[in-house]
Amino acid sequence: MTIQEQYEHLEKTLRGYNPSADFSRIRNAFEYADQCHNGQKRKSGEPYIIHPLAVAQIVAEELNLDSESIEAALLHDVIEDTPAEHADIARLFSPTIADLVEGVSKLTRIQYATKEDEQMETLRKMLIAMSKDIRVILIKISDRLHNMRTMEYQSPEKQKQKSLETMEIYAPIAHRLGMQRMKWELEDLSLKYLDPVGYQEIVSRLDAKKTEYDMFMQKTRAQVETRLDELGIPHLVYGRVKHPYSIYRKMFSQNKNLDEIFDLFAFRVIVENVGDCYNVLGVIHDIYTPILGRFKDYIGTPKPNGYQSLHTTVMGTDGIPFEVQIRTRSMHEVSEYGVAAHWKYKQNGQGAGAEGKYEWVRRLLENQEGADAEEFIHSLKIDMFADEVFVFTPNGDVQNLPAGATPIDFAYAIHSAVGNRMVGARVNGRIVTFDHTLKNGDIVEILTSKGAKGPSRDWMKIAKSNEARSKIRQWFKKERRDENIVNGRAAFEAELKHCGLSMKDLLGPDRLPVLLKKVTYPSLDDMYAAIGYGGFTAQKAVSRMRGELQRIAKQQAEKQALEASENSSKAEDSHSPAPKQVKSEQGIIVEGLNNCLVKFSKCCTPVPGDEIVGFITRGYGVSVHRSDCPNASPERRADPALSDRWIRVSWGSDTNESYPTTLEVVAKDRLNLLLDVSAALSTTKTFVSGIQCRSTEDGFAIARIEIRVRDGEQMRTIINKLNQISGVLQVTRPSG
Ligand code: MN
Repeated sequence: MTIQEQYEHLEKTLRGYNPSADFSRIRNAFEYADQCHNGQKRKSGEPYIIHPLAVAQIVAEELNLDSESIEAALLHDVIEDTPAEHADIARLFSPTIADLVEGVSKLTRIQYATKEDEQMETLRKMLIAMSKDIRVILIKISDRLHNMRTMEYQSPEKQKQKSLETMEIYAPIAHRLGMQRMKWELEDLSLKYLDPVGYQEIVSRLDAKKTEYDMFMQKTRAQVETRLDELGIPHLVYGRVKHPYSIYRKMFSQNKNLDEIFDLFAFRVIVENVGDCYNVLGVIHDIYTPILGRFKDYIGTPKPNGYQSLHTTVMGTDGIPFEVQIRTRSMHEVSEYGVAAHWKYKQNGQGAGAEGKYEWVRRLLENQEGADAEEFIHSLKIDMFADEVFVFTPNGDVQNLPAGATPIDFAYAIHSAVGNRMVGARVNGRIVTFDHTLKNGDIVEILTSKGAKGPSRDWMKIAKSNEARSKIRQWFKKERRDENIVNGRAAFEAELKHCGLSMKDLLGPDRLPVLLKKVTYPSLDDMYAAIGYGGFTAQKAVSRMRGELQRIAKQQAEKQALEASENSSKAEDSHSPAPKQVKSEQGIIVEGLNNCLVKFSKCCTPVPGDEIVGFITRGYGVSVHRSDCPNASPERRADPALSDRWIRVSWGSDTNESYPTTLEVVAKDRLNLLLDVSAALSTTKTFVSGIQCRSTEDGFAIARIEIRVRDGEQMRTIINKLNQISGVLQVTRPSG
C-alpha cells in the first residue's frame, strides 16, 4: 500500500464511525507530519510517516477515538523527533492537540529499567497520572502496539528491552483500562521476543493442529447456534483458540505441556440483553456438562476494570473442555476496548472534549461493586485525581511524594543526611529554589555540601510531607544537642585545667556516678549539653565536683590509714590479701560483681571512653551498652519490670587491645568512593573486619564499616579522616 493509499484507508475508517469528522483538518495533520518527518526513515528503511499513519489507523480502527485523537496520533512524534514545538501545533491545529502530542512525547521520554514489582506499579501509576487526558495514554499504547508489531527491524537488545517494558508497563495498563484485545496482542508480541523458543513452540503446535481445532470449533458453534435459533434468541457466536501468552502462562504456572492445558478454546455468545445472557447460560449447561466451580458471574459482580460477562467451562461432546463467555453487545465493546469504548459513547453524546476529564471514567468505576473493585477505584482515584506527584531521581527511579512537594521533601525522602546537607536543587537540569513545586515527571537532583548549615526553621513550613518535617524536627533536637555538647565539653575541660584537674580525676567507677549526682545530670553529655546551651555553667560544675573530689580523697585517706593500722595489728597473718584491686573483665568493671561474664552489645558496640551501662542478661552475663543506645534508653532503664537488671559498669584501666565497633558512612555515590574509604582506614592504621556498601536508588551510598579500635579517641580520629573524604555527608556510629 502506498502512503497515499494508507492515508485514504485511514479516512475511510474514520468515516465509517464518525462521518461528520472534519476531514480537512485530518489531512492537514497528515501533511504537516509528513513534511516534518520528511527525510527520516524507520529502521525498516520505509519513510518515517508510515509509523504515525499506522498509529492513527490503530487509534481509529481499534479504538474508534475522536478526530482530535486521530490528529494527535498523526502528529505524535513531531515534538520529539522534529524541530516542531508545542506552540507550532497549538497555532496550526489547536492547544488541545498540542497538549495531547506533548503528553505522548513526555511518556516517550521516560526511560524504564526493569525494577522490583513495587517500582513497576509506581511507574504504571505515574504514567496514568502523567496522562492528564486519558487519550494521551490511549495514543501511547497504540504507538507501542505499532512499534511492537514492527519490532523485527530492531537490534536483539532493543527487542528484549522494549518487550520487557511492554510486558511490565503497557500490557498491565491496557488491562487496567479494560482493553483486552490490545493487551493480548501486546503480550503475545512481547513473548515472541522475550522467549522466542517458548513462543514458537506454542505457535507451531497450534498451527499443526489448526485443522483439527477448526473442525471442533465449527461443530460446537453449530450445536450452540442451532439450539439458540430453535429458541428464538438472537445471537452471535464466535469460537477461538486462546492466545499464545495466556497458554504460555498456564503451561508455566501449572507446569504442563500444551496437550495438558485444560481449556484451550473459548467461545463467545453475544446477545441483546442481560436476560438473554442467563437464558443462554441455561441452554449451554443443558447441551454440555458444566465443570464444577468454573461458573463466574461478572455481570452481577463486574471485574474492577469494568468487565462484565458470564463465564462457564463445560465438557464438549468429544471430551474436550471449553470455556464459554456470554455477554451483551455493549458489555462486549467494553471488554474489547475498555475505556475507549466509553469514550466513544461520550463522543456520540455530548461531543468529546477535555471538560470533565475523568468524570465519566470515575462514574463508570464507581458503579462497580466488590472489594476488588473498590480497591481499584481507590488506586485509580489516587492515580488520576491525585494527591500525589511522581518525580524521577537522576538515575531514573521514581519517587512518590505528596502533591505540592518541594525539593526539600524529595531530599528527605532519599535520606535524612541528604536533606540535612542540601544546599540546592536542580529540576530538569535547572537550579530551582527550595520552595519550587515539583511536577509529575520532573527529574530532581539534590546538591549537597559537607559545609551545609543544615535545615532552617523555614523548611518546616515549606515541606509538604510529614516525613520531611519530622526529620527536620529531629535534626533541630539532635544536631543542636551535639553542638551544645561539643561547646559545653570544651568549656568544662578548660575550667578543669584552670583548677589543676584533669578528666582522669573524674572518671572511675567510684567517682563519676557520685560526681554526676552532685551536679544532678544523668550523664556527662547531658551536663555538657546544659553547659553548651547555657543552662548550667562550667564554673559551677567544676566547683561542685571539686568539693566532692576533696571529700572522696579525704575519705579514702582515712580508710587507708585505718586499714594500715589494722594490718599492723594483725601482723601474725602472713597471708594478708593483696591490696584490693578492682578486677575487670575485658576492661569492664561491673559494680558489685567480680568475675562476671561481660559481653558487648551488638547494637551499639561501645569502646573505651564511651559512657556505658550494663544489663544483666539471663545466662549470658552482663551485656554492655552505650548509655545513648536506644536499647538502653532512659524509658527502658526506668521500666519497673527490668529496672533491677540495669547495673552500673565502667571502663577499667586494663582495657583490651581493641574492641569491635561499627561506623556508618553516608556519601554521594561516585567512582572510587570505596577506594578512598579504604585508603582513609589504612592511613589511620585501622583494623577493618568488614565493609558492606549499598547504593541507594538515588545516587547515594551507605557503607557499614566494621572495625576494631582501642578507644574512643582512636575512633574520633577515624571519623574525622572519613569525614574529609570528598562526597561523604555523614559518619555515624549506629546504635539500636
Ligand atoms: Mn511513535
